[in-house]
Amino acid sequence: MSDTDGKKPLGLGGGNRPGQVKQSFSHGRTHAVVVETKRKRVVVPAQAKPGAPAGGAGNAHLGDPSKRPAGISDAEMQRRLDALRQAKAREQEEAARRAAEEKERELERQRRREEIEAKEREDRQREAALRARAEEEERQKREAEAEAAAKAAARKAEILGTQRRQPAEPAAAAPADAAAVPGDRGAGQSRPRPGTAPGATDAKPGLAPRKTDRERENRETDRGAARRGDEGRRAGKLTLSAATGEEGGRQRSLAAMKRKQEKARQKAMGFGQKAEKQVRDVQLPETIVISELANRMAERAADVVKSLMKMGMMVTMNQTIDADTAELVIEEFGHKAVRVTDADVEQAIDTVEDRAEDLVGRPPVVTIMGHVDHGKTSLLDRIRKANVVAGEAGGITQHIGAYQVRAPNGQLISFLDTPGHAAFTSMRARGAQVTDIVVLVVAADDAVMPQTVEAISHAKAAGVPMIVAINKIDKPAANPQKVRTDLLQHEVVVEAMSGEVQDIEVSAQTGQGIDELLEAIAIQAEVLELTANPGRAARGAVIEAKLDVGRGPVATVLVQNGTLKKGDIFVVGEKWGKVRALVNDRGETVTEAGPSVPVEVLGLNGTPEAGDVLDVVSSEAQAREIADYREQAAKDKRAAAGAATTLEQLMAKAKADQDVAELPVLVKADVQGSAEAIIQALEKVGNDEVRVRVLHSGVGAITDSDVGLAEASGAPIIGFNVRANATARGAAQQKGVELRYYSIIYDLLDDIKKAASGLLKAEVRENFIGYAKILEVFRITGIGNVAGCLVTEGVARRSAGVRLLRDNVVIHEGTLKTLKRFKDEVKEVQSGQECGMAFERYEDVRANDVIEIFEREEVQRTLD
Ligand code: GDP
Repeated sequence: MSDTDGKKPLGLGGGNRPGQVKQSFSHGRTHAVVVETKRKRVVVPAQAKPGAPAGGAGNAHLGDPSKRPAGISDAEMQRRLDALRQAKAREQEEAARRAAEEKERELERQRRREEIEAKEREDRQREAALRARAEEEERQKREAEAEAAAKAAARKAEILGTQRRQPAEPAAAAPADAAAVPGDRGAGQSRPRPGTAPGATDAKPGLAPRKTDRERENRETDRGAARRGDEGRRAGKLTLSAATGEEGGRQRSLAAMKRKQEKARQKAMGFGQKAEKQVRDVQLPETIVISELANRMAERAADVVKSLMKMGMMVTMNQTIDADTAELVIEEFGHKAVRVTDADVEQAIDTVEDRAEDLVGRPPVVTIMGHVDHGKTSLLDRIRKANVVAGEAGGITQHIGAYQVRAPNGQLISFLDTPGHAAFTSMRARGAQVTDIVVLVVAADDAVMPQTVEAISHAKAAGVPMIVAINKIDKPAANPQKVRTDLLQHEVVVEAMSGEVQDIEVSAQTGQGIDELLEAIAIQAEVLELTANPGRAARGAVIEAKLDVGRGPVATVLVQNGTLKKGDIFVVGEKWGKVRALVNDRGETVTEAGPSVPVEVLGLNGTPEAGDVLDVVSSEAQAREIADYREQAAKDKRAAAGAATTLEQLMAKAKADQDVAELPVLVKADVQGSAEAIIQALEKVGNDEVRVRVLHSGVGAITDSDVGLAEASGAPIIGFNVRANATARGAAQQKGVELRYYSIIYDLLDDIKKAASGLLKAEVRENFIGYAKILEVFRITGIGNVAGCLVTEGVARRSAGVRLLRDNVVIHEGTLKTLKRFKDEVKEVQSGQECGMAFERYEDVRANDVIEIFEREEVQRTLD
């Protein structure tokens, strides 16, 4: 039905109910018809909503009755128009508010931008300050290591100060964050909106993390929408504002990104972590495992490893580092190192100074040194025998590493009977300087030799006075005067040459001069005024140690001070024990041993090493504690030595490995002294290109585990006066490990030298085989410059190396591309003949240049 209010052909009466039409017919009948009126839903506000212009257009057609839809009464129209007006008013109001809000938001954004910039500026400043501080610390650390403790305290205070300041910074930063980011969304939501509670996000900005903020905000939005209910259309608005908010969201993401980057940067620079650091006092023993160090600093082990790597140490967290390195790490992390010393444990050892009145004279301890075969052993034997003959000793003499004899004047003298400077030096290296006087043996028929010179250096280095024994004086070829003058060259001026060093002519073979030698020693001892306090707890040095089948671990100890008694509890190196028995150099059991007396000590819990110092302590617990401590410390130290490989060292090693061949060996000996002497001698074998490396050394039979180690390293096992046990022998045979038995050190050394020279790279030696002179140079296409030469000397060989000399200066070295005799390629051209030569990859040949022809050959070398 298209009827409208404007047309009334159907007689739509004003009083009629809407929906009823009165029909008039020509025959005068009327008929009322119910007209179904489809009432259009009023959608005006909804239509008007999208925008004022659209609304305006809508209003125009609604206000005009001609365009009015049918079936709408005036009243209805009026109502609608009112509604429309209201909507329009609301719309305008809304628009105004939005504009205000937009302005507000813009201001807010502006403010936030400024805040962010301010914050960034502040961050940059802080970072710069931190960096400056780090640099300052670094500088201070370098400058004042001596004042380390004071500086550490100062810095601790400084860091503590920073810490107190630090918490304020994140707190200050947080609201800024909140204002910068979630605040934006909050502002959008907290618009003055009737019936809408202000966004909860605005209430506590920055107190919750950003993510939670957003979540809560979302929840808030949902809740708000539900509460509004009838204002459902506002939901659309909200969506719109949310869309506007999207813009803010993007901005926030940017800011968040910036902060994130900033944080990452700070973290990478280590500032972020440093800022929140708590300074700790880190107990630092001599060595420490990295993971434990990290633990004590409450840092991540990975960070500690990283920091060590920065220092150039390639380590894993299970490795041990020494205290010095650890201290650097601790400082690097901003903590304070507190060194724990071993003194705490070792204090049990009595170190009280002796009073002068307690001191009494003690026998001198003598070591005999000199070149091989000059008669050291013979002399030691002779001195001892002379004593036996003199009736001083009763029992069977026994080798325990040292013995005592009496000089004709009654003075007791202790001789160490491991001759040579190797043992002397190794003892000294272990901290036991037992020797008071060195007897330098020089064979009169040989004079000063390399080892004589070495012995002089060792004695001088140790500050030990020397007595020169000119041996083999019985020999017809003996020339003692030559010895004396030779010695002058090494700054040893003997008495016969108006010097201070006593010189005695002796013969180990005939016994001539032995008494004089002993007397000279006694005089020297008197000069030295050697004293000790026999009344105190004993201290001594291990001269030799071995594992005796019947008696267990046995150590020969030379008492240096005090008196060692049966029943004494002692600690010796990493071992400890209680004196079960004391045996002197004549095999007699004694109850005590005073200063300078060598005795075998029984009752140890293990075999100590030569050079270890023995100290008597008051209780077993103390002894055990010290020994345990030392064992651990030694273990740690070894581990640390292994771990402390800096990059530079690794590089050096890698380089060295390419240049230097190594002959690994295992050494097992009957006594510690021999083992040490062998190791020292072996270490001297070799040169810049090859060296002997002692993988392992020990006292006692060659065992299965030795064979295993040798097999793994491809090393031979050297047995000095020891043999492999049955299982080890079997294993060695099976695994192809070489076992070599020796009883003379010098044989051993000879063999090792031979083995080592087998490892020597063959020396490349050059032989000049000919010379040729260039007469003319031809240019030949396809070959290049060809020198027409005359072989002036020797022979020119196609395969040989060539050098081009111009005015005797080598200007090129290389090989030949061609060697021609007339038109033919030849292998060799003899002297006096002409030939054509062209160089491989070298063209600049000129007339009058000389070509040197040489060949290289490899020569096997031996060590000298
Ligand atoms: P070491 O290597 O210094 O211990 O020398 P040794 O004591 O083994 O002696 C080397 C060699 O020299 C041996 O053959 C001895 O017999 C010999 N010898 C040592 N002393 C004398 C001596 O006084 N006179 C003579 N004629 N020979 C001696």
